[in-house]
Amino acid sequence: MTTVSSNDSGRSKSLNTNGSNPLKSSLLEQIASRPDRNTHNGKAAQIKATSEVAKEKMMAAVYTMLESVGEDPEREGLLKTPKRVAEAMQYLTSGYNQSLEKLVNGAIFDEGHNEMVLVRDINFFSLCEHHMLPFMGRAHVAYIPNQKVMGLSKLARIVEMYARRLQVQERLTRQIAEAIQEVLEPQGVAVVMEATHMCMTMRGVQKPGSWTVTSAMLGVFQDEQKTREEFLNLIRHQPNFT
Ligand SMILES: [Zn+2]
Repeated sequence: MTTVSSNDSGRSKSLNTNGSNPLKSSLLEQIASRPDRNTHNGKAAQIKATSEVAKEKMMAAVYTMLESVGEDPEREGLLKTPKRVAEAMQYLTSGYNQSLEKLVNGAIFDEGHNEMVLVRDINFFSLCEHHMLPFMGRAHVAYIPNQKVMGLSKLARIVEMYARRLQVQERLTRQIAEAIQEVLEPQGVAVVMEATHMCMTMRGVQKPGSWTVTSAMLGVFQDEQKTREEFLNLIRHQPNFT
């Protein structure tokens, strides 16, 4: 996991030795080298859209879980629980039924704008793939356009689409950055996510109040310390209207 203050100068140095388009090749290099646990025996995982059949299966599984914890699934208060849990799970994982293409839906504008665009404090809720327990917090997303910009709400929608899947915070952070890179081909993208994990606070080490911070820096945010610092200062700054 990368911390906010990390400064991977060694990596950004090697990127500059690439061909005519250092930005593109640097991104490809990172995608190729990053360890990917999002696969099944090295192949793309089989992820299916949810269906009514899937919902029935999930309800049966919840029924089994209720029995397994020692409960009586037929008692009054629990009768509708399998259905409620299945519907809640479908909602919390609805990001599997969305795609980046549909989400962006052509809402990209050629504004000739080349200054940093930053959306701070995007609340997100996700489920960790290790325990299927919630982790939640705030995302800060910035990019420096290369002429093309996108509606600000789309940035929040991209965060939400990837958050509503089973995740690890590190991958979630990187997927958001890479999605923006893919859609806008900007000069750089920076994503910082701060979250608290229920699997750490409710069980395991039980450390309420602990936060995990992850970051993904692409393009100029990785290559230029000044740009990265400007971003980090902006997300630390407390606005005086709140
Ligand atoms: Zn977990």
